[in-house]
Amino acid sequence: MDEQEIVEKLKDLNFTFEPSENERKHYLSQIENYTSEFYTALPNLPTYSPTGYSTEADDNFLKVENTDDFNAILAYIKERIDSHGLQPASGGHLGYIPGGGLYEAALGDYLAAVSNQYSGVSYASPGAVRLENSLIQWVGKIVGYAQGFAGNLTSGGSIANLIAINTAKHNKQINSQNVRESVIYTTQQTHHSLLKAIKLTGLDECVVRVIEMDETYSMLTNAFEKTVVEDVRNGLNPFLVISNAGSTDVGAVDPLEEISNIAKKHDLWHHVDAAYGGFFMLTEAGRKTLKGIEQADSIILDPHKGLFLSYGSGVVLVKDGLKLKNAFSQEANYMQDTVGEYDWSPADLSPELSRPFRGLRMWLPLKIHGVGKFSQCLDEKLLLANYFYVKIKALGFETGPKPALSVVLFRYVPSNAEANAFNKAVVANIHHCCKVFISTTSIDNVFWLRVAILSFRTKRHEVDVLLGHLKEYMATVKAA
Ligand SMILES: *Cc1c(COP(=O)(O)O)cnc(C)c1O
Repeated sequence: MDEQEIVEKLKDLNFTFEPSENERKHYLSQIENYTSEFYTALPNLPTYSPTGYSTEADDNFLKVENTDDFNAILAYIKERIDSHGLQPASGGHLGYIPGGGLYEAALGDYLAAVSNQYSGVSYASPGAVRLENSLIQWVGKIVGYAQGFAGNLTSGGSIANLIAINTAKHNKQINSQNVRESVIYTTQQTHHSLLKAIKLTGLDECVVRVIEMDETYSMLTNAFEKTVVEDVRNGLNPFLVISNAGSTDVGAVDPLEEISNIAKKHDLWHHVDAAYGGFFMLTEAGRKTLKGIEQADSIILDPHKGLFLSYGSGVVLVKDGLKLKNAFSQEANYMQDTVGEYDWSPADLSPELSRPFRGLRMWLPLKIHGVGKFSQCLDEKLLLANYFYVKIKALGFETGPKPALSVVLFRYVPSNAEANAFNKAVVANIHHCCKVFISTTSIDNVFWLRVAILSFRTKRHEVDVLLGHLKEYMATVKAA
């Protein structure tokens, strides 16, 4: 091809993806309608509809062919996506650990995607990286870290845990020579994302101990220390203990301060999983419950749980920031321009290079509402959990431990039926009724119902709906 031919061909290809101003306005007004309809419908949407159908028409619609009908696209999202499965944005979502979905977080995502700031590297977007680093500083201060810590905004708690575990591995120099005699301490309540992280980092070749817990599902520190001492005596290499600041399963909080003391004494890395519980540090009650968290070597938190953001936000913090940097920074010849007098970059503190500018979705809601409102909302969740705990007992249900944070275990123990089967029927009935959603767990073959209160949309009304439904159900069952 000669130059002239190339120029002619380029003329043919001279189309643009850029929408006109009118087209943009059209999209945005349709999206605004969609948003309003969603928010209007939300209080009455089922919290759970078992995934139903997929018709041939649905499959055809999913084929990536162009269409002029933006409305049809929004209709598909509404009817075929938003109306099935769990409704995580609902205040009636009381299962697993509820997420959030603050509107301002969606706007942050939108703005970040429009300018597409390259937030991985300070050289490329000093402003974006500075904003993210200031959020990391803010979260660090919340958990009580003083100075010299570093962290990263991740896509969620699982990746945050992975980063922390890899940092512990690197810092404690676990390698092919010593991995098999190295020891990690967990409990039965350790989140499975940490077991995944252990697998991903090759640490599943270590000895992984599951330490006994007390009746509140908190690690027994005597048992922990005794095991460490025995392991050392037997020539093993204890290097990592993982504790919970609010386990997903039952909301358990381990004795963080004591675990840190033991970890220091025996030279172990102490990692605290505060994905669910961490932001309760914004409340006075939470600070009491999570006392000593600031002693940990690494901590993770999930803003898409405790700060009510939409999914895609985790935080990892490492007390000695250099340890995080040493575990992740890597040079590359084509990155030479980026090295210099810049702020620490996310790309040097995590496995990611190109990544969304996720700081904006977190900063915008905080900036608009102020931190105080988040503290108040979290206080409300603690109170609602206590309210449910008291009320469900009064209905004759057995409960798990008094809620350390906002998860309550409960079950009914009938005199004339098998308890596990009975409670399975209770939850099936609740899922059928659809007004609120709860989930379940099994511990030592005991089937528990569980309520987890964390959505900013959950108010006393939703808790009362659940209590009312349970009361009615019990009356029907007893009458039968
Ligand atoms: C949610 C959660 C995780 C996993 O976080 P994701 O954001 O879902 O990846 C880890 N640990 C605990 C305690 C959690 O509640």
